[in-house]
Amino acid sequence: MTTIETKRGDPVYIQPYCAHCEEPLLPVEKLLTFEYDDGSKAPVHVECFMRKILGSAAHQLKECSCHLGANGREEPPGLTKRQAARLALETYYALQGVTELDGLLL
Ligand SMILES: [Zn+2]
Ligand SMILES: [Zn+2]
Repeated sequence: MTTIETKRGDPVYIQPYCAHCEEPLLPVEKLLTFEYDDGSKAPVHVECFMRKILGSAAHQLKECSCHLGANGREEPPGLTKRQAARLALETYYALQGVTELDGLLL
């Protein structure tokens, strides 16, 4: 684990892998820093950040266990965590009636 100090003095946890999907963080990818409830911070992909905020695709569609109890579904089987994160973001865009080209976040 490596920690650096930013100019504001906030410790930032640096790791080469996304804290959500655990895939490598590549220099060309857009990253955001996710702050956990305990105040710790970790870099994540943009779509992984949004997945943490928005919930899963099923959650946004009100088809998850929060809404349907035992009949709820969660992440589609066979998707990686990152693919599921992208699906959650695409679902959000679809529900909002915007496309990525509208520049909401990506
Ligand atoms: Zn990720
Ligand atoms: Zn839910």
